[in-house]
Amino acid sequence: MTERLLDLPGGERPLNSTRPEAERAELVRWMFDRLRAEYGEKAIYARREPMHELISTILSQRTTHADEEAAYQELLTLGDWDAITRAPTEAVAHAIRRSNYPESKAPRIQATLRAIREQRGGYDLDFLAEIPVQEAMKWLTDLPGVGLKTASLVLLFNFARPVFPVDTHVHRVNTRVGTIPRMGEQAAHRALLKLLPPDPPYLYEFHVNLLRHGQRVCIWTRPKCPACVLRERCDAHAIYGNNVPSFGDKPGKG
Ligand code: SF4
Repeated sequence: MTERLLDLPGGERPLNSTRPEAERAELVRWMFDRLRAEYGEKAIYARREPMHELISTILSQRTTHADEEAAYQELLTLGDWDAITRAPTEAVAHAIRRSNYPESKAPRIQATLRAIREQRGGYDLDFLAEIPVQEAMKWLTDLPGVGLKTASLVLLFNFARPVFPVDTHVHRVNTRVGTIPRMGEQAAHRALLKLLPPDPPYLYEFHVNLLRHGQRVCIWTRPKCPACVLRERCDAHAIYGNNVPSFGDKPGKG
């Protein structure tokens, strides 16, 4: 990779995103410590049971947390998972209308439920704690409505498996700081995991603290760089100062 140099007051330095993997891994460890000092330590815990996490994450795509939760609760009024699978797709779409794109999410949710039922004879996902992590990831991402982010959230949050969910906030902060070159969220899952220890509590805390930082400080448009604890080693701040531009397109689905 070509090293791009920044002409800074203290002399030239290469952009983080062009540095070797070992140096970017050290940068990640520094970020982890800075974010822990700012937002605190986090103990890993499952915020929801696995099926709730799985279906809610599908509903959360391009949707606020409040609307995702409202859609999930109304979905449950249709009955259990079998009843939701059998319900007319229009009824499912109506139930989840607070979530964006209900017409495309409703058939995906039904197809996901159908596939789980066919393969497992029910909706118990606890086997994902026992099989090799790559196998667990493949099983989840082979489901019709489940992408890398959703699968990673379920595996890390519910089963403490060593994977790293990359949502829009995790992606934006890391791209701006330069731990990874500019790439899509899907590719960022693999690129970031290579820089991180295979340690679920560490991965969980880093994910949650990055999420918080992306929501409060390194926001999509007009990031609050003067208040940022990552500023001194951030590529975007080194290039643009306190006028870092909006980040690409609006947050996408994961
Ligand atoms: S310095 Fe600015 S662009 Fe860089 S991580 Fe902090 S808020 Fe984001």
